Amino acid sequence: KFITLEGVEGVGKSTNLLYITEWLKKHNIKFIQTREPGGTPLAEQLRELLLAKRKESVDPTAELLMVFAARAQHLSQVILPALDRGDWVICDRFTDATYAYQGGGRELDRTLIEQLEQTVQKNLRPDKVLLLDLDPETGLQRAARTGDADRFESEHLVFFNRVRAAYLERAEAFPARYAIVDASQPLERVQQELGRQLERLL
Ligand code: C5P
Repeated sequence: KFITLEGVEGVGKSTNLLYITEWLKKHNIKFIQTREPGGTPLAEQLRELLLAKRKESVDPTAELLMVFAARAQHLSQVILPALDRGDWVICDRFTDATYAYQGGGRELDRTLIEQLEQTVQKNLRPDKVLLLDLDPETGLQRAARTGDADRFESEHLVFFNRVRAAYLERAEAFPARYAIVDASQPLERVQQELGRQLERLL
């Protein structure tokens, strides 16, 4: 099974990722945990390049191609071998983040993303996309409390609102693949829901 975790900054992705991996261990499921952009040395280098602060603004298409370059490497080196072994793969962000950030946030043409998705992934799509959904303003406040707010410096709330909207659009277009989890609920409720979604995959 290939499971991805998605959401805008401040939704609690890290905490819930830990819950998911604990759940998998408890159920004796062999799995690997990985992330995007990243997951291999080369892809992690690309991640650093993508996240580096620089004076030059990054061309959105250049950003898109870097994300997919990292993904191609990640797939062939890590994700596909794991799935071939029969391991579950839990990935912190995947292509839906590209639709959300480069498509929604940076407003790139969606058909371009679809073409790259098809080229790089062939028929591979996540079995389940767990989308933690939260109003970005609340996410920003949370991130500020946990000291994660520096990530918001360069970008504006309107950007994150577009990212969120694109995620929700994807969820609506692919209801069977997506599970939307309301991340404004108490953590316990969020995790109950994540557990229920994982159980369905058994
Ligand atoms: O998952 P995490 O929050 O650590 O992601 C790191 C950053 O990479 C995010 O803040 C997001 O803005 C950015 N990102 C991106 N495009 C992607 C995936 C992540 O801009 N496709």
